[in-house]
Amino acid sequence: MRRTSHIHVSEETLEFHRRSLVIDLHTDSLIAAKLLGMDLSKRHRAPRGFRPWMLHADVPKLAQGGVDGVWLGIVTHPWPHRGFARASANIDYAEFVLRKNAGRLRAATRAEDVLRAKEEGRISVMLGVEGMHMLSGTVESIRGLYDRGVRYITLAHFSSNRFAVTSATKRKKSAALPSAGIEAVELMNDLGMLVDVAHVHTDLIAEVCARSRDPVIVSHGAAAAVRPTFRNLTDRDIRDIAGTGGVIGLIYADHWLSCEGPRPTLDVVVDHADHIRELVGVDHLALGSDWDGFIRTPVGMDDATDLPRLTQLFLDRGYGYDDVEKILGLNFMRVFRQVCG
Ligand SMILES: [Zn+2]
Repeated sequence: MRRTSHIHVSEETLEFHRRSLVIDLHTDSLIAAKLLGMDLSKRHRAPRGFRPWMLHADVPKLAQGGVDGVWLGIVTHPWPHRGFARASANIDYAEFVLRKNAGRLRAATRAEDVLRAKEEGRISVMLGVEGMHMLSGTVESIRGLYDRGVRYITLAHFSSNRFAVTSATKRKKSAALPSAGIEAVELMNDLGMLVDVAHVHTDLIAEVCARSRDPVIVSHGAAAAVRPTFRNLTDRDIRDIAGTGGVIGLIYADHWLSCEGPRPTLDVVVDHADHIRELVGVDHLALGSDWDGFIRTPVGMDDATDLPRLTQLFLDRGYGYDDVEKILGLNFMRVFRQVCG
């Protein structure tokens, strides 16, 4: 297979990419914005030596990359378990970013909002909370997050909490979904919130998928069969998630995509997609960059402006236009409409 760091995007592909609805399920740019005091409304260039580790996505880069909708991760330190106040402060910050960019961004909590934003030429912004340590131990905190516009919650991050066990646990033995986790999934189903099992222990993924009445998502992940690591999804996980009708957002973190030494090419993202498509079909694939989440991206994608190259690569590797459109956004829209309205 030809692997190249230089991908020429044809005019036709660029036009197709721009016309398609493109949605990213997990972008961490609020971290960079908060830590560095970075103004997301402006284009930023990472200092030499920090490329391609950071400053993947700001508003101008997302727009240039043809991104129509982005889930901004509400992320706090995964270990301290007093997260609700911090989550709230981060949501305040997200709202500030939205106000500051009102002409270019639009808050979205439903599929309809995303379509309207695309018509208006604005980027829709949705909020996802990464880890139930931010509930501060109280299932009712989920209502508070819902009321503030949050529409997905990842059950665990790099730490376990009262509600779920992380995939990063050192314990090798089997794990079960705690009763608090069962309550959390039920409440999210009742409210119309997406249940996200990125970072979640494989045993819990099976149980969450069995219990959830709605499709389950992985906002950012990859396949363990291609790159074996605790962070990636086993074939059983992938089948379980597909069984709920859910989607898996493909991550662009080279560390989780490949163990082939320094910085693989963008082809590796399509390798993971190929595997998932082979197992469960193309209807369960989506995009979940993890941009600005302390990741290094593959060669060929330095930042969000390079996203059309991924579209070109899918086409070059034999995916049809209809299938690529599904991966770029339509699969996720199916789930979003079903769960959040
Ligand atoms: Zn993450």
